[in-house]
Amino acid sequence: LRELIELMRKGFVIQSVMPSSEASANTDPTVFHKRYLKQVRILGEGHFGKVTLYLYDPANDGKGEQVAVKSLKQENDKISDGWIKEIEILKSLYHSNIVKYKGCCTELGGQVVQLIMEYLPLGSLKDYLPKRNLPMSHCLMFAQQICQGMNYLHSKRYVHRDLAARNVLVENDSLVKIGDFGLTKYIPEGEIYYRVREDGDSPVFWYAIECLKESKFSFSSDVWSFGVTLYEILTRCDRRQSPPDKFFEMMKEAQGQMTVVILIKLLEQGLRLPCPKDSPHEVKILMERCWSADPSERPDFESLIKKFQILRQ
Ligand code: ADP
Ligand code: MG
Repeated sequence: LRELIELMRKGFVIQSVMPSSEASANTDPTVFHKRYLKQVRILGEGHFGKVTLYLYDPANDGKGEQVAVKSLKQENDKISDGWIKEIEILKSLYHSNIVKYKGCCTELGGQVVQLIMEYLPLGSLKDYLPKRNLPMSHCLMFAQQICQGMNYLHSKRYVHRDLAARNVLVENDSLVKIGDFGLTKYIPEGEIYYRVREDGDSPVFWYAIECLKESKFSFSSDVWSFGVTLYEILTRCDRRQSPPDKFFEMMKEAQGQMTVVILIKLLEQGLRLPCPKDSPHEVKILMERCWSADPSERPDFESLIKKFQILRQ
């Protein structure tokens, strides 16, 4: 069977061997059959999706492969355009710092219901960091890897729009990958931003000022979110110092108004998250530049990669 798959990959599909679509579905390595997926445990949940660890075990001998399976929370809803787009985007990305697409699991009617990805055993940075006392140099290595994944994503003209520690996954002690492309948008050549109106539940404490004020999402607004993610890494994802908690602390005096309105005022006054205690001065400067009110003053990921390279030496 493996040889046959290899032949198919190379384009040698032998018609007499592969007469029906059922046969090709059986050998396409990106087609996962629901009946062979054995649930192990729930890995995590966000606003829109639920991710579960399964053992994919067609031989039924308990030796199958572990895969992470993402499905939409409201299963009964009609499969949305957004869900199909998320799958298509992940399918088109190949980078060592981006979670790998493995395939799909379709319902009998043909609708894609589940997205199959590689399983990252250490979970998100939010699960991983609080349990360890990671030295600064290690934090900066993770930060650089995130920049590498983001630089690749931007080279394909995608804005992530939800970069945060909860969406960065940990493969092992020296490798992180970006995940969750649920809010990702394509920016056509010649344009600089994507304007979105989202109803509620947006990750506002990771948003750049122009996202909050004008719903303008650009490569530079991802850089702002990266600054917040860097802040999370440097606080080792300590819950008491989380971006929402810190901002709510700063917002205490101005109660009564809508959170976003107060947040905008605060940012317009130049207030920002505090730089975590043990950060080197250069890192503080870099983080603050990611939070420049003027998007054009923020660094891009390519220059961030170089900065981290120097800082880590
Ligand atoms: P949502 O769109 O609902 O936010 P995510 O894709 O961010 O969904 O996944 C939710 C959580 O599930 C993540 O924060 C992480 O903890 C866990 N998770 C997601 N993908 C994987 C994976 N491939 N391996 C291990 N854990 C994962
Ligand atoms: Mg998420």
